[in-house]
Amino acid sequence: MTGAVFSRAAGRDLPVVAGGNGAELFDTAGRRYLDGAGGAIVVGIGHGSAEVADAIAAQARQVAYAHGTAFTSASLVEYAEALGPLLPVDDPYLYPVSGGSEAVETALKLARAYHLARGEDRSVVIGRTGAYHGNTRGALDVSGRAGLRAPYQPWLGSAVHTTSPYEYRCPFPESHPAGCGARHAEELERTISAHGPDTVAAFIAEPIAGAALGACVPPDDYWPAITAVCRKYGVLVIADEVMTGFGRTGRWFGCDHWGVRPDLLVAAKGAASGYWPLGLTVCSGEVHDTVQAGGFVHGYTYSHHVVGAAAGLAVLRILQRERLVEASAERGAQLAAELRAELGGHPSVGDIRGRGLLQAIELVAPPEAGTPGRALSGDLAPFPRSARVAERVVAAAKERGVLLYHSTGCADGTNGDLLVLGPPLVITPAQVSELARSCAAAIREVL
Ligand code: PLP
Repeated sequence: MTGAVFSRAAGRDLPVVAGGNGAELFDTAGRRYLDGAGGAIVVGIGHGSAEVADAIAAQARQVAYAHGTAFTSASLVEYAEALGPLLPVDDPYLYPVSGGSEAVETALKLARAYHLARGEDRSVVIGRTGAYHGNTRGALDVSGRAGLRAPYQPWLGSAVHTTSPYEYRCPFPESHPAGCGARHAEELERTISAHGPDTVAAFIAEPIAGAALGACVPPDDYWPAITAVCRKYGVLVIADEVMTGFGRTGRWFGCDHWGVRPDLLVAAKGAASGYWPLGLTVCSGEVHDTVQAGGFVHGYTYSHHVVGAAAGLAVLRILQRERLVEASAERGAQLAAELRAELGGHPSVGDIRGRGLLQAIELVAPPEAGTPGRALSGDLAPFPRSARVAERVVAAAKERGVLLYHSTGCADGTNGDLLVLGPPLVITPAQVSELARSCAAAIREVL
């Protein structure tokens, strides 16, 4: 028997990708697709960049690999120096790895090592319900997605979860004089107290919840209140910017919307825009100096990869030169406005939300099928999961030559099906209009 690919789309025939250019992909049958999701919200600078390909090839020709304990490299040093001033972390130190899950694992170990080096045995990590931080055991443990977690009990770690800010289905509908963020901060403080402040190592969250909860933007008082509680108890803040980093939400990092300065930050996806499997863990100078003094031992064969750093640097230069972060804010506002214009009155479109070029649509059952609520068009109830509504919309859009991303979110009936849009930041205004029109047409075809 010959070798075969273990497919990620069992039972479905996939087209064979043949090329890409900007916001478009092409298959071997000659079909063109508008990439409305940058894969899994990965591609920022667009497909088919000869500049990044050349940078990768030049570095690989010169030297492709040298072990991170034996050598540093000019590309690594240059990358850290170029990225440093853009990061919302004080005196940032960069630990490059191969993707988001590895970056999260590294951050979790750094948080534990930081406290141990200070003589404190803190092991609890607080995550949020509905959150996704990766598929390795530690990252999945701190994730709050019941469906993904269920088969893998028991966990190695000690993660607990607090509620995510989710304005469309606010867990704290009763008013609070200081706003909803204060309620979340109170909940976090109660959770820390319940476990014992001297046991809690870190709080991990996405600044804007990405695909898993469908581009949920927290209320403006959320992050200031949450970081104040973490500081009060010496709990490290880990910002998961795997999806929101590198301009995706119209600022360099999601933290920048609220001036958040996390102790640790993880990024991936947009960092090398899909040209290289690059993830980054960033820690503050204080965390760095403390763990180094404590003898931090960690590493992967492919961490600090020389070619990965060259790819990241080339992507960074393009983001800066082409002003793609600003483009994300502008095209994102256009996309949100056009989605609202196309879909505002649709009975199954519950919510359209997001920032920059990270936008999501929450699909809900029409009023007669569920309980009345506060949806844009009248109803909060999700479709039954078995209806696979978002999946069918994604398939209908693909038939129209437009790629979308879908998520079932918590998969516990607390949210509707989610369509997530995150095209390359180089998408043109005309392509944004095409994306909004085709997405709306696919929704109308299925619902
Ligand atoms: N964190 C967030 C917020 C993500 O969206 C993802 C992937 O989608 C990850 C972590 C895991 O990244 P990776 O798939 O590169 O391991």
